[in-house]
Amino acid sequence: MEDQGQVFVITAPSGTGKTTIINIVRKNVREIGYSISHTTRKPREGEVNGLHYFFVDRAVFEKMIEEHEFVEWATVYDQLYGTSISSINKELYSGKDLLMDLDIQGAKEIKMRFPESISIFILPPSMEILKARVKKRSTNDKIDIELRMKKAVEEIQRCPDYDFIIVNDDLNQAVREIEAIIIAQRALKKRRFPLVKKLFPI
Ligand code: ADP
Ligand code: 5GP
Repeated sequence: MEDQGQVFVITAPSGTGKTTIINIVRKNVREIGYSISHTTRKPREGEVNGLHYFFVDRAVFEKMIEEHEFVEWATVYDQLYGTSISSINKELYSGKDLLMDLDIQGAKEIKMRFPESISIFILPPSMEILKARVKKRSTNDKIDIELRMKKAVEEIQRCPDYDFIIVNDDLNQAVREIEAIIIAQRALKKRRFPLVKKLFPI
């Protein structure tokens, strides 16, 4: 399928800086789509329904599961998160590259369904720095922070399953590396060839 966009799955332990990085990459890289997930968790300050997530209650989410509306879904920190088929199809089949922000379960599922997708794991510089970043997000209470730190250790153990590993120490460097991955994929022969054939008699 020559006109199918490339899927980029990004995973990181909560608090690593994934959202910060994705927001910058979305501004800097032309023509990049983003899959907006559904979740049952409550919005954080500044989060907008339909832009960062579709915030729904459990009953709505469960009905969507029953009606097979998700390409993948998972329980993360006791909340439900899922990627709806409709949120990815439009952009992907119009040839647009697509960023997906998924936990380790979702990333595994998408790699199985889209074997050519590119997976990127973002690591924090250290566990201490990760904890400090999680704490900075004031909506998390103490139990939630402990839960996320415990989960972070399990998640980091899965980083060898990913195609690329980025360390988010210096934010600009992490952003540059992710942009380089996306841009390099666009220059791959198999993706450039339709254009080459239009331009030159080969
Ligand atoms: P995630 O989406 O991975 O849960 P966020 O993007 O919400 O994480 O970032 C968590 C906190 O860490 C935010 O306060 C953000 O400003 C901060 N942060 C992100 N990247 C860096 C970095 N490279 N250096 C210092 N602070 C950072
Ligand atoms: P947060 O609550 O911090 O926004 O996200 C918590 C975790 O859920 C993160 O690891 C994030 O990548 C993951 N996540 C967000 N959307 C989805 C989704 O649609 N599916 C899956 N499997 N995980 C998701």
